[in-house]
Amino acid sequence: MSYRADPDLLLEIQKYGAADIAACFNCGNCTAVCPLSTEDETFPRRVIRLAQLGVWKELLGSKELWTCYYCGECTATCPREADPGEFMAAARRYAIASYDRLGLAKVLYTSPVLSVIFLVLLAALTALFMYTSHGSMPTDSLRLFEFIPAHVIHDLGIAGFVIVALAGILGAVNMAIQVGRANGLSRDGVRHNWLGALWETIAVEVLGQTRYRQECETEEERPSWYLQKWFIHASMMWGFLGLFAATGLDWILDIVGVKATGTWVPIWYPVRLLGTVAGLFLLYGTSVAIVRRLRKADEPSTHSFLSDWLFLVLLWISTVSGFALEIAIYLPQAPVWGYWMLLFHVAVVADLLLLAPFTKFAHAFYRTVALYVQALKPVPAAELAAAASAD
Ligand code: SF4
Ligand code: SF4
Repeated sequence: MSYRADPDLLLEIQKYGAADIAACFNCGNCTAVCPLSTEDETFPRRVIRLAQLGVWKELLGSKELWTCYYCGECTATCPREADPGEFMAAARRYAIASYDRLGLAKVLYTSPVLSVIFLVLLAALTALFMYTSHGSMPTDSLRLFEFIPAHVIHDLGIAGFVIVALAGILGAVNMAIQVGRANGLSRDGVRHNWLGALWETIAVEVLGQTRYRQECETEEERPSWYLQKWFIHASMMWGFLGLFAATGLDWILDIVGVKATGTWVPIWYPVRLLGTVAGLFLLYGTSVAIVRRLRKADEPSTHSFLSDWLFLVLLWISTVSGFALEIAIYLPQAPVWGYWMLLFHVAVVADLLLLAPFTKFAHAFYRTVALYVQALKPVPAAELAAAASAD
């Protein structure tokens, strides 16, 4: 294997955080304490070493970058106070910027002023675009789609989805190729175990949060289950996926003619109920995560990059504005603010989703790919040969 080295790699990663990592003298203490370390995966020292050597290709192909849950154990015990946990977070930001061929992620991570201007402009343009097609504001009941026609929001959603999907897929494929190559994945190996690995990734790790639950909080430090980090993280993820599913189901029911999008339904209507419960999970997860960051409750919360705040705050605002909209819908008299809330809500969601491949949100795709590569595991040649002869 040939190594292409960039002597400035460590300095480049430091633009994304990790101010203290230059103090590392490779003692290996962090690897010894990391609950995820195994014989084959030496968190986080191997990734630090790759950065020190400047071998960016190997660093970008490292699945440990993504499977680290930033528990902060390594930081707490580093004798040089080099903050290896924050280094892993900075290296993930660097990786997101490197997988993004448009260069937008780099700007959003490294220029706080431009990030804020960009977000405000994007939200304002979205709201203005919708407002140009506005209709009446009925006051007997809140008929949102008489104010903004459903097809405008629908078309905006489809256009946004295509942009995000293309940028997200490009980044994820780019990342999967690098991680696959660096971890010696072969086509035969993938074919041999793709389904089992998919189950282990989606059901066991992503939805079940197994590693996070078992390994990232020690028995002594475990607070009540509803305050444990895995539950906060899972609440945000389950809540987001639930809202995504409820929105998708609403459109599908419209297409098959069961219910038109935007028609009034009681709160116990299944799709509305799914959306409400998912929203409550998301609101809980984001609120607790914000409070933890404000109080600097643990090692990971002590360093808050602008991207960490933007991600959490946009999620929180979009959830709260979604609930405000729901309340307005069920009030006996239609409040005019309900119509403005619709514009605000869609503008914030547009910010959150359109920038997903370029911000912290992207870690959801990349972590899933890394977990999948990890679940595939290199298959012993004898096992592959046996499977081939059985075919
Ligand atoms: S980050 Fe700290 S604990 Fe880890 S190898 Fe460097 S000096 Fe040692
Ligand atoms: S933050 Fe936790 S999971 Fe990540 S490398 Fe450090 S000890 Fe391991």
